[in-house]
Amino acid sequence: MPLGMNLVTEEFLSAVRALPKAELHLHIEGTLEPAMLMRLAAKHSVSLPYQSEAEVHAAYDFSDLQSFLDIYYLGAGVLIDEQDFYDLMFAYLSRCRDEGIVHSEIMFDPQTHTDRGISFGTVMDGFLRAMASAQREWGQSSALIMSFLRHLDEDRAFQTLKQAEPYRDHIQSVGLDSSELGHPPEKFAGVYAEARSQGYRPVAHAGEEGPPEYIWGALNTLEVERIDHGVRCLEDDALVQHLVEHQIPLTVCPLSNVRLCVFPEMLQHPLLDMLDRGLNVTVNSDDPPYFGGYLMDNFESLHENLSLDLDQAKRLAVNSINSSFLSSDIKEGWLTQLSSP
Ligand SMILES: [Zn+2]
Repeated sequence: MPLGMNLVTEEFLSAVRALPKAELHLHIEGTLEPAMLMRLAAKHSVSLPYQSEAEVHAAYDFSDLQSFLDIYYLGAGVLIDEQDFYDLMFAYLSRCRDEGIVHSEIMFDPQTHTDRGISFGTVMDGFLRAMASAQREWGQSSALIMSFLRHLDEDRAFQTLKQAEPYRDHIQSVGLDSSELGHPPEKFAGVYAEARSQGYRPVAHAGEEGPPEYIWGALNTLEVERIDHGVRCLEDDALVQHLVEHQIPLTVCPLSNVRLCVFPEMLQHPLLDMLDRGLNVTVNSDDPPYFGGYLMDNFESLHENLSLDLDQAKRLAVNSINSSFLSSDIKEGWLTQLSSP
């Protein structure tokens, strides 16, 4: 038990860990731990502006989304061969097993790699091999969300969609991430229409740093089935009403929001208000080592700062299963498990 953690907290965390949960907002490139970053940099003789893991940790002190993204892209530069992508994915899926995440829908940014001369196939082959290993070894369920970088133009997103064609059956969804401000959803209307026509399930980041209008844009123009983040919906009552009425999932990332200064501290995080207002919110870790923790760390922080209780944690777990793209019979199995006392 970590120093300072009381028994009540430990019992709460064990109970939450045992709940079957889905994680729906996780960037695989954002799971790169400082130790793996240093190991892969040495393996490939990539020079980094850091000499030690401690220096990497110190660099993770961000002031906003952009200052995080600068380090995130630098870190991704050590991912080079198929084994690197395998190792990255397998490390995250092992974490899922330890935290009771029975299913994860995982975002990846092909453009971060293809722009560095890494082939789409190298990335995919590593990821898919790790996902198959985890499925075989302990029944881990996972799916991929191919995310377009919104600071690049739509033509580039179309190229990425084209490159994904040989892997169509292995990619469930398309998403939109990276710098939000100044890059509204409407910029990607064409590529989303094409992706939807090919059967991809559309999701998009909206309303993290961007205004509520970006959430409306993601819903109305991109026709997304889920909103990633979406916390700024609270500034628009009509939007909240719409999201509640249609039970559109919001994949909220509390520790990420605090680290990127969307809210000054966890005490100000509106997650429980959102739950009370009937919004279909889920808890997710976004880019865990960069933002101070994995899914269970998020639950711990919510418990300590906002007194999240076990009933609320259960509702969040139910929302996560319901909001996933799992088939209805698989959802039913997990929900039955969640409804038993
Ligand atoms: Zn994200």
